[in-house]
Amino acid sequence: MSEYDQDFFREAQRLLGENAQRILNDILRHAAEVEQQAGAYGARLERHSARLPDAASVDALRNVLSHLRADTRQMRSAVVDLQGNLAHSREEIESLKRELEHARVEALTDALTGALNRRGFELRLARVLAESGDSGGAISLIMLDIDHFKKINDAHGHLFGDEVIRTVAETLRACVKGRDAVARLGGEEFCVLLPETSLAGARALAHNIRARVERGRIRRHDSADEVGGITISLGVAELSPREDTADFLDRADQALYCAKESGRNRVSIAA
Ligand code: GH3
Ligand code: MG
Ligand code: MG
Repeated sequence: MSEYDQDFFREAQRLLGENAQRILNDILRHAAEVEQQAGAYGARLERHSARLPDAASVDALRNVLSHLRADTRQMRSAVVDLQGNLAHSREEIESLKRELEHARVEALTDALTGALNRRGFELRLARVLAESGDSGGAISLIMLDIDHFKKINDAHGHLFGDEVIRTVAETLRACVKGRDAVARLGGEEFCVLLPETSLAGARALAHNIRARVERGRIRRHDSADEVGGITISLGVAELSPREDTADFLDRADQALYCAKESGRNRVSIAA
């Protein structure tokens, strides 16, 4: 876990801990209040019922009954208050749960593109690998990197560079389906994780992605000019039997490196 992740989780834990503690304290305080009132109510009931045998007249009986009624009403209102307070606490807990889920998703998501970040990708890959243990289905990976991105930044500025990164992410998302996952591993490098996909299927998809990116044109934010001719290089690998994650990623990376070395704007298949 990176230092940033650690900071984030420590802060999330602290906030969660504080809020959960406060809600729990509220619930305990309300429950204690009602318990105290219930005790007092019981004592008053006893007092009233002790007076009953001595109530010689209808008026005296009426007087005892009216006290009973008033105390009962008071008790009932305390219980209604408690129900309201508990409902409020429940809402607070639900909202805390939503906040936590939101924070969890944000921690695993790249802010620029909405794709998974490296940590999100690692968790997803681990899950896909664990699940594939049962099904035995093929798992493939496409590693890709924008060609000469430094030149794109230099020629059109960093903001345009960001737009290029976003557009590539959108293209990737448009090309995948179902349980496939798109991740931005850093800078201008992406990975597409393809569960239930053979090498042949992944290779066909990689060619499709390469062609779509090459065809695309991206509008500059400061003018009507469109920039075309942006290309990517891609490496494709299928998980081998008993291969570990690091080797799998490494082979996809090597294939990407081959695609760069052999001229860029192409797909290379891992050994
Ligand atoms: P190659 O074809 O070999 O991949 O060349 P390249 O220029 O794309 O590769 P290199 O790794 O030399 O340069 C990547 C550049 O990407 C360097 C860095 O300034 C830029 N970069 C990294 N992250 C971002 C980002 O979030 N936004 C923008 N605009 N640029 C970024
Ligand atoms: Mg590059
Ligand atoms: Mg790069």
